[in-house]
Amino acid sequence: MSFTLPRLEYSYDALEPHIDARTMEIHHSKHHQGYTNNLNSAIVGSENESKDILEILSDLDMTNMALRNNAGGYYNHKLFWEVMNPNTENVMSEGLKLAIDESFGSFESFRDAFSKAAATRFGSGWAWLCVKNRQLEVCSTPNQDNPLMPNGCGGTPILGLDVWEHAYYLNYQNRRPDYINAFFDVINWGVISEKFEQSS
Ligand code: MN
Repeated sequence: MSFTLPRLEYSYDALEPHIDARTMEIHHSKHHQGYTNNLNSAIVGSENESKDILEILSDLDMTNMALRNNAGGYYNHKLFWEVMNPNTENVMSEGLKLAIDESFGSFESFRDAFSKAAATRFGSGWAWLCVKNRQLEVCSTPNQDNPLMPNGCGGTPILGLDVWEHAYYLNYQNRRPDYINAFFDVINWGVISEKFEQSS
């Protein structure tokens, strides 16, 4: 199959002032489009052409850098747009609330752990909240790697934060911690609760 750029379910300026429209436009229409095009180039003529993205990621040959970077980039950004959707109800389910309390002690402890994972990722990468055996875990990965890849931190990601400079530089320059705080203002916990129910 060939992949197409996932539609953004909201306008580029919908996350202002936390994430600016120019950043969103470049990030979605240029960066994500690039990963999508390069993923298609990386699978053409191979057995990966018949797989969906989850199969590609779980079967991945980690030495195939073109496929690793672009399958990761395709999947990671798709999740990233979804978890910031401002157009659906933003209410955390009781199940997710309970799981956060059980796994981290409190929402604030979870937020600290996630923010630390995002802030301390050296260079480019992602911070994740994953479901693993009904428990929640925070981890981070470099570049466009993700928890679903072989030797990744494991589990099913239900929240991901892009900490590549292209995700925040226009608005925040070197102030990654400010961008991480702003992300918490645009997370849609309703979307994440649905992903939690589906993966646990
Ligand atoms: Mn990105």
